[in-house]
Amino acid sequence: MKIRPRLVTHQLRIGILAVQGDYEAHARMVERAGAEPVYVRRPADLAGLAGIILPGGESTTHLKILTEEGLFGAVQKFAAAGGGIFGTCAGAILLAREVRNPAQTSLGLLNISILRNAYGRQLASEIHMGLTKLRSEPLEMVFIRAPIIESVGEGVDVLAEDEGHPVLVRQGRILASTFHPELTADPAVHIFFLSLLSAGRAS
Ligand code: GLN
Repeated sequence: MKIRPRLVTHQLRIGILAVQGDYEAHARMVERAGAEPVYVRRPADLAGLAGIILPGGESTTHLKILTEEGLFGAVQKFAAAGGGIFGTCAGAILLAREVRNPAQTSLGLLNISILRNAYGRQLASEIHMGLTKLRSEPLEMVFIRAPIIESVGEGVDVLAEDEGHPVLVRQGRILASTFHPELTADPAVHIFFLSLLSAGRAS
């Protein structure tokens, strides 16, 4: 998707790491949720953003590019300064405190331990309807070579579970899902992320 620059905006600006993976679907969802998407490829792109999204894709590739472009430290600083981050699937892996299968460097911004490719190496996706703490109706959850959140530590709120594992978790302004809300027609999770950013400083 091509993003048209706007001169005047009162919308929240949400960065989307746009190096590989399904970042265009996130940009469409951010627009539907009422915010302005901005593609992030280098540290200077983080200026003026309320939050950033780390999309799905291949976390090893994202990690390599984050490191090469100087974004790894810049994203950690962004979070330390109060910016919100939403990681989906590979993005959740990047946010985790601990990554297994195999062990991998991560941003360490979310107090969870996560197991990569936990459902085997299949390319097939699975779609489940699941309950969340976001609302009473179930939510469509698309899993693609998803990781499993094995444990959550102090400060992490589990907002949804699937087959006994957390699949949507929040710690202050850090949100992560092991599924792909951007691949559905339902902007509920993106709207929830925006609500974390506009609701004053996180607890
Ligand atoms: N299997 C990928 C990884 O480990 C994540 C898959 C995804 O983002 N859909 O990085």
